[in-house]
Amino acid sequence: MTDVKNNFINKIINRSILRNPNRKIRTRFPPEPNGYLHIGHAKSIFLNSNIANKYNGTCNLRFDDTNPKKENIKYINAIKKDIKWLGFEWYKNPKYTSNYFQQLYQYAIQLIENNLAYVDELNIKEIKQYRGTLKKKGKNSPFRNRSIEENLILFEKMKNGIFIEGSMCLRAKINMKSPYIILRDPVLYRIIFSEHHQTKKKWYIYPMYDFAHCIADALEGITHSLCTLEFIDNRQLYIWILKKLNFIQKPPKQYEFSKLNLENTILSKRKIQQLIDAKLVNGWNDPRLHTISGLKSKGYTKNSIKMFCQKIGITKQQNMIELSLLESCIRKDLNMSSPRRMAVINPIKLIITNINEHHTEYLHAPNHPHIKKMGTRKILFSNEIYIEKEDFCKKPNKDYKGLILGEKVRLKYSYVIQANKILKNKNNKISCILCTCDLNKKIKQKYNIIHWISIKNSTKVKFNLFNVLFKNKNAEQENNIIEAYNHNSCIIKTGYIESIISSEKIKHAYQFERIGYFIKTKKKSKHDTIIFNRIVSLKNKYRKFSKIN
Ligand code: ATP
Ligand code: MG
Repeated sequence: MTDVKNNFINKIINRSILRNPNRKIRTRFPPEPNGYLHIGHAKSIFLNSNIANKYNGTCNLRFDDTNPKKENIKYINAIKKDIKWLGFEWYKNPKYTSNYFQQLYQYAIQLIENNLAYVDELNIKEIKQYRGTLKKKGKNSPFRNRSIEENLILFEKMKNGIFIEGSMCLRAKINMKSPYIILRDPVLYRIIFSEHHQTKKKWYIYPMYDFAHCIADALEGITHSLCTLEFIDNRQLYIWILKKLNFIQKPPKQYEFSKLNLENTILSKRKIQQLIDAKLVNGWNDPRLHTISGLKSKGYTKNSIKMFCQKIGITKQQNMIELSLLESCIRKDLNMSSPRRMAVINPIKLIITNINEHHTEYLHAPNHPHIKKMGTRKILFSNEIYIEKEDFCKKPNKDYKGLILGEKVRLKYSYVIQANKILKNKNNKISCILCTCDLNKKIKQKYNIIHWISIKNSTKVKFNLFNVLFKNKNAEQENNIIEAYNHNSCIIKTGYIESIISSEKIKHAYQFERIGYFIKTKKKSKHDTIIFNRIVSLKNKYRKFSKIN
């Protein structure tokens, strides 16, 4: 696990440990099983588990499963799988808020008995109206002053499924004029008739997050309950509930940190679900999504995700993180481990006219520019080769570094060639470029270098080139994400790789020189063509390829 830098939460814990050196630190990661985990959750997982590790404490995994309408066992399994993949080991068995439903029910009764909760018959819309706004104080519900006995009977009936969904709820009796809207008699329990994935048909009432979360924290002995900044006001309710229920001996404390916001993408599960429903992405593990399983299927490593979480740190400042930071992490992780190969993703044919068609010569190319022990491989040189379309230009600007008619370039690990003539097809499109090659291996003069593959040494493949899902950096703010979706977020190209790759049983990524890092997918196309995902392009140097990105 990566080490935690001293963020503000560590400083708080350090102080508390100074006061009480024997204090056992307990944290928890509490996903709601209503979708897959995303990279924002990874930030929370690393924070919670790093703290537990650093202070020799424990970190629970707790499924916050209080809404059977939205939750599903398939999400529980997917969440466990992704957490394991990230390398996080939760303490003992996974916990479920639903494990505490009976206790939570008893605590609700305790509040009613102490005249601190009541059954309300206003509907959701009315409750909202009665609550007022930041500028306008709330007003009491007409049902607020029922007797304790009546509240107990009605709550019991709610529990027994006598009333229909939405007709009644249990509310805390706090203060309808509080400056914190959350304290204006928040709902604690609602009626839901859906079957629950853990408790099946046992319950018709379900606790709200705010009621269940603090109690679950207290029951599990959590010391530091870390959540994101939008819960800052909910902290008042967290404290109120625990105090009124007499959890006064070392109650858990809530601390807030800033959420991860990433440019050009969405993380909200509700919005990801919208993209899936609209079939704009292929499920939760679509490589364009920043879900853990999406990143994994794109070819991201867990190390790169950890590195990223470490770099962004933990603060209280809301900010937007550039995708380039995440990309720099995966590049850094793949740079040293990925073997180099050549591939052409947008091919154009070159014929070398001064060698004959039977010329076969094997040249040696290093598998890694800096790691000698990764060895070399043989690459075939013959009279017909592919280069990238973008590496040939008739009338280039002065910064152009490719092949120009009448000029020379070096083929990587091979000879210097000169372009002499363009051949066109019926449609007046370039079909082939005629070149000559200088077979003198000892040319000292420096030329620009381009990558290439001999046609005889090439295997046809497909490349998935991914682009951002949204062109708007602040995609999460889009009113209509379906309209804002980038229809060019995946471009499929047919090109060529060195033949050797198709027989290699390598599971990790390759760097295709000058193009980027790629990984072979498990899928094959209809015609059995191998498909590669581009994990990330190479840095700025080769950005001229961005045209086809
Ligand atoms: P979403 O809004 O994406 O659906 P959520 O907050 O509803 O997320 P939960 O399953 O409730 O998702 O989150 C589990 C934990 O992960 C919570 O403690 C939450 O604070 C944290 N978390 C969720 N999103 C982020 C994020 N973007 N950055 C950091 N932590 C996050
Ligand atoms: Mg949530």
